[in-house]
Amino acid sequence: MSERPTEGMNTMHMGMDEILQQLSSLKDNSESFSKEKDADPIWQADVTALEAAISILSALQDEGINDAEETRDIIEDYRRQAKQIERMHTKYEVKAWPIKKDSVYHCPECNHRVPPKHTYCHWCGKKLGGW
Ligand SMILES: [Zn+2]
Repeated sequence: MSERPTEGMNTMHMGMDEILQQLSSLKDNSESFSKEKDADPIWQADVTALEAAISILSALQDEGINDAEETRDIIEDYRRQAKQIERMHTKYEVKAWPIKKDSVYHCPECNHRVPPKHTYCHWCGKKLGGW
């Protein structure tokens, strides 16, 4: 197996435009080889892979993303926000039963006392139900 360059090493000084230009040139070369008589099918496979790579990188570039680090950052932000939305949904939109302790109701989220029949906890905003 051939040694792979460390990530970022070869792309560090190459902008997205240059990378796409280079891949496009590689694709054109592979395409011309693939059209030769009795061409090895590997050239067509290269064309297909390069087209897919160009398409992915173009989509990232369209969103203003220029390298692998920015790609990971955006995805991490997205996942963090998705978790936050899920937590907010669970807290404010999903009912939970108040907990009765010593004949007084308590919020299942923050444990403060809540009056019977209230739809939200006045302390933390948790949606209540099951009355
Ligand atoms: Zn509460």
